[in-house]
Amino acid sequence: MLVENFRVESENVNYTEEEIISTYQYQTTELIHEVRNGKYEWVVRPKSVTYEFKTERKVPKLGVMLVGWGGNNGATLTGGIIANREGISWVTKDGVQRANYFGSLTQASTCHIGAYSGEEIYVPFKSLLPLVDPNDVILGGWDISSMNLADAMARARVLDIDLQKQLRPYMQDMVPLPGVYDPDFIAANQGARADNCIKGTKLEQLEQLRKDIRAFKASTKVDKVVVLWTANTERYSKVIVGLNDTKENLFASLEKDESEISPSTIYALACIYEKVPFINGSPQNTFVPGVLEFAVEQNVLIGGDDFKSGQTKMKSVLVDFLVGAGIKPTSIVSYNHLGNNDGMNLSSPQTFRSKEISKSNVVDDMVSSNSILYGPGEHPDHVVVIKYVPYVGDSKRAMDEYTSEIFMGGKNTIVMHNTCEDSLLAAPLILDLVLLAELFTRITLREDGKDKFRSFHPVASLLSYLTKAPLVPDGTPVVNALAKQRAMLENVMRACIGLNPENNMMLEYK
Ligand code: NAD
Repeated sequence: MLVENFRVESENVNYTEEEIISTYQYQTTELIHEVRNGKYEWVVRPKSVTYEFKTERKVPKLGVMLVGWGGNNGATLTGGIIANREGISWVTKDGVQRANYFGSLTQASTCHIGAYSGEEIYVPFKSLLPLVDPNDVILGGWDISSMNLADAMARARVLDIDLQKQLRPYMQDMVPLPGVYDPDFIAANQGARADNCIKGTKLEQLEQLRKDIRAFKASTKVDKVVVLWTANTERYSKVIVGLNDTKENLFASLEKDESEISPSTIYALACIYEKVPFINGSPQNTFVPGVLEFAVEQNVLIGGDDFKSGQTKMKSVLVDFLVGAGIKPTSIVSYNHLGNNDGMNLSSPQTFRSKEISKSNVVDDMVSSNSILYGPGEHPDHVVVIKYVPYVGDSKRAMDEYTSEIFMGGKNTIVMHNTCEDSLLAAPLILDLVLLAELFTRITLREDGKDKFRSFHPVASLLSYLTKAPLVPDGTPVVNALAKQRAMLENVMRACIGLNPENNMMLEYK
């Protein structure tokens, strides 16, 4: 049964007019490796740390600026939000379809909250903490293509035609701001659409982006802005000592208009200057060390990299299941073909390489969690192929073969074929990323013994569930396993309302 709204009653939580304040016992362990009775022993000691969380209850009016607004994801998200906001329904060959937010963790998933009269009770994920309603989000952004959003939606060939017709009047006057274009960073085949570019040096481009953010905020009267990169995948920028390895060197390189500073890095810098969260939905290394240093110093939320929408999401479930079941994946081979503009851009070796890197480390944490199966340095063979096939458009095909060693030398092969419009998978993730990023800027916490509340670390590892190659603070473990990522997010949100993690023990029935 679903309960839409609830309130926690506990000595550990206090709802004031402005805030939810909770006290939470974080149960963890402390490991000791020491000599006892002449030999080394591992000792595990349970440990409890008290945390306090404060969440601002007032939900701001939120503006979201997309870099690559006129792309397939940007146009699909814009159409999807308008269709939901306006309650649009449309006729398809299968009948009447109504707008929904399926595929969004925050809008369409639930959390278990307890049992009532023997029935399990669930609440919407979005009801755990006060969250911006996606229908109230004001969209804007940049694109190097000047096409208006109605035409961009038609170019994307994702949404049904009857829906497009109804959306057109809402979208035809939405025109992206000129973007920062550098042909050296994306495939040469993108040149034809680049008719809407900011001129000038990199420093001048940065200044223009800052002005754009301020002007958007002023003209829409939003309280807060979040920026998200859903533009084309760039090649990796070279990280070079003296160029972009520190904040100072990066700023000095900007002054010198150094060619190795990518457009996405310029957008990220503009956001940090404007104290606006920036999320990278593509695989490139936007967050070179100089950007990271600047974001941490300014305490501005950054998140990424690369939406975890389809094949990788399945992989981070399947390999977690196999390794967790004591089965040893030895070969993982992933083929993709797609025919949208993203696919065309990825047909260049350098941009493909960015995608290959972000797709390749996704099973590392699962492999290293089980040394019964894998010896030191041992790793499954893991290959990723992406091909551009124009005819299939946005409907990406992903084919995966997982070979594993099982009991007594047996082999098991699982083959999967996944067909789906890529942008219909990515758009809800974009929504979750911006809504959650905004929420995290309203939460502060204090560990036992500290006198001041602080915000979460600006490198937002809590967004890991939504990204292929989670960006985490230096020295932090990267978690790729999907169930763990979801539990991390849900449990932190539960802690903010004084609830323990979902432990699945169901002792009352045992
Ligand atoms: P798309 O090519 O349709 O859209 C990208 C848009 O970005 C284009 O309109 C392009 O003109 C614009 N653009 C390129 N460089 C720009 C710049 N410097 N400034 C402003 N605009 C710029 O691609 P898409 O299908 O919307 O995907 C967008 C990104 O999301 C890609 O990098 C893709 O790899 C990534 N991604 C998508 C998915 C998915 O499931 N759809 C999953 C993971 C990652």
